[in-house]
Amino acid sequence: MPSYAFVDGQYVPRHLAALPLEDRATNFGDGIYEVWVVAQSKLVDEEKHFARLERSLGELKIPMPMGQKAIAQHVRRLIRRNNIKFGTVYLQISRGASKRDHVPAANITPSITIFTNNKPGLAEARRAPKKLKIITGPDLRWARRDIKSTSLLPNVMLRMEAHQQGCHEAWMVDDQGMVTEGTSSSSWIVTLEKTVVTRALSNDILPGVTRDTVCELIARAGYEFEERGFSVEEAKHAAEAFVTSATNFVGPVVEIDGTTIGNGQIGEVTNKLRDLYLRAAGL
Ligand code: PLP
Repeated sequence: MPSYAFVDGQYVPRHLAALPLEDRATNFGDGIYEVWVVAQSKLVDEEKHFARLERSLGELKIPMPMGQKAIAQHVRRLIRRNNIKFGTVYLQISRGASKRDHVPAANITPSITIFTNNKPGLAEARRAPKKLKIITGPDLRWARRDIKSTSLLPNVMLRMEAHQQGCHEAWMVDDQGMVTEGTSSSSWIVTLEKTVVTRALSNDILPGVTRDTVCELIARAGYEFEERGFSVEEAKHAAEAFVTSATNFVGPVVEIDGTTIGNGQIGEVTNKLRDLYLRAAGL
């Protein structure tokens, strides 16, 4: 059975799905995207991702191509059609296609594409957390990182470097030497006093949906919590470090630039938060 994709109102076999040559997401990175995890055929953190989708579009003045309810219906239909029990949904909305010009045509209509990935391995998340090794590098991105834009070149460059060094993720570092976030995840440390720390929301980082849910879980678990920046040096001497993202959940970091974090094992606080998150996500 072929996997289907949704492209501007049509369900098409995934391998035949295509965007016009002059779609602005490919020519200019003029589009936004969202990624949901699917667990037990349900979207994890569904509403929060939709809220961020609408916010990102609003900031770029791209109209919603259809209402949220209609988009959600198409997403669900695709999950059913592609028989996804555990996996991911990628949704992209670009400003649309028109003759390549920095100023888009006045009558341009946004385009929407949705596809799924089957990841049965996600069902094992509870049993087999991956211990992440990361590198750090300069944050070369623009000044509106709060928008989930398809322009991801600096993220891609640094992540490729991490991959080349046998690492899973890279943390980006601002001009003041403070960690902003991962190339596709939010960054966290746990201090020796067991305070959980992550950078405060601003235009410097993406407001991670998983970050938001984990903030709620930290409050419920009764851990001390500080929203503040931290340096790479502080992270290397922290008791624990972890990342959060829709696909990594709460991912334990055991090595930063070759320095072992704590005793190199998954920390107690990280483990607890991961467990709480997976439970909340239905995994
Ligand atoms: N930061 C960046 C730069 C990201 O690309 C992502 C996810 O792709 C995140 C953080 C984590 O966001 P979320 O928890 O919504 O997946």
